[in-house]
Amino acid sequence: MAGWLVGLAGCGDEERAGQPWASAADEAADGGETGGADGLDDATSGAGSLTQADDGHGADDRGETGGPSSDTDDDDPSGDTGGAQPPPPGADCPSHCYCEPYDPDANVDDLVAGYSAANWESTVLEFLARRWPAGRDLLTDSLDDPYFGVFSDKSSFDAAIGDGLPTEAHEMTHGWDFGHATVSEFAYFVRDDLQYFPPKIEGFERSEIYSMIATSASDTYANLYLTGQQGTYGWMDVLDEGNCYMHDLAVYGVIGEFVPWAGVSGRDGAVAFMYYLQLYLRRARTQYPQLYAQLQAEPDYVDFVLTQWLRMHFFLPFVDAHPELGINDAAIREHMYLPENVAEIEMFVGHELEASNCLPQ
Ligand SMILES: [Zn+2]
Repeated sequence: MAGWLVGLAGCGDEERAGQPWASAADEAADGGETGGADGLDDATSGAGSLTQADDGHGADDRGETGGPSSDTDDDDPSGDTGGAQPPPPGADCPSHCYCEPYDPDANVDDLVAGYSAANWESTVLEFLARRWPAGRDLLTDSLDDPYFGVFSDKSSFDAAIGDGLPTEAHEMTHGWDFGHATVSEFAYFVRDDLQYFPPKIEGFERSEIYSMIATSASDTYANLYLTGQQGTYGWMDVLDEGNCYMHDLAVYGVIGEFVPWAGVSGRDGAVAFMYYLQLYLRRARTQYPQLYAQLQAEPDYVDFVLTQWLRMHFFLPFVDAHPELGINDAAIREHMYLPENVAEIEMFVGHELEASNCLPQ
């Protein structure tokens, strides 16, 4: 097979309609599109050297069980002058960089050997605890989600981890973000100790950026997310879907040896939604200046956008180590890295940026 899109059984399921995150429900999306060869374009810098960020967990162990959060504060202590700052790094992470605990090489041999469908949940959580603790925390918060586990074939370790886990992370991110939103605030999960709760701002319908997409980067994602009912969703949902695909990316970086398919869209969604974010910001800036000013006046939005740029570059090198985990991402990345598109993120966050998890010094 040429490939398939992650989240095959995911957000598109009809039965999700009516759930708290129903706005993501009819992503007919994740349907099985086959793609071409995965021309991998490693445009990222050598961010991999920063992998083993300090395990900064423990210092802040808020709300394991979820529930509407009262934390409306900016988690970023840098509420300061011009421009967002990267979130507080771990002890081993340079202060101008984004890092988080992440260890794709952590030994899981015992989990493979001891796997059975009956211990799927504990295996998944322990696997993530060793390799991507933020994912463990996300799924721990999701244990009560009625959809937790339904996206996974639990019959084997490879199926459960290499196939099911990206979709679980993607869908549980939707669940977390919408589940922690309030009447007035939206919510974005990054880590247990880094979450954003900006005021809800709908913005304009994202279908308005459909025609802005460069032909060579047009892909299944644009047709799925920027048209029809999906196309009516705006700013908050662009960021939410991007966050879900960020977690697809994070998972793919730690499951490479278990992915049973060649030609999987492990990177495509994350870079596509970063590109869509760039286009959305351009249209806001040029066509809706009041909206743009409103968004830029909200530190949680500005900080979150910066975090997503840096965080994507933190994960990308690990997924790039598995060239087969992308379908059309090389073409999308070409456009994402065009100076005028990078500039949209730079203008919004007030910082120069590089293809890196670190701010230029
Ligand atoms: Zn989704």
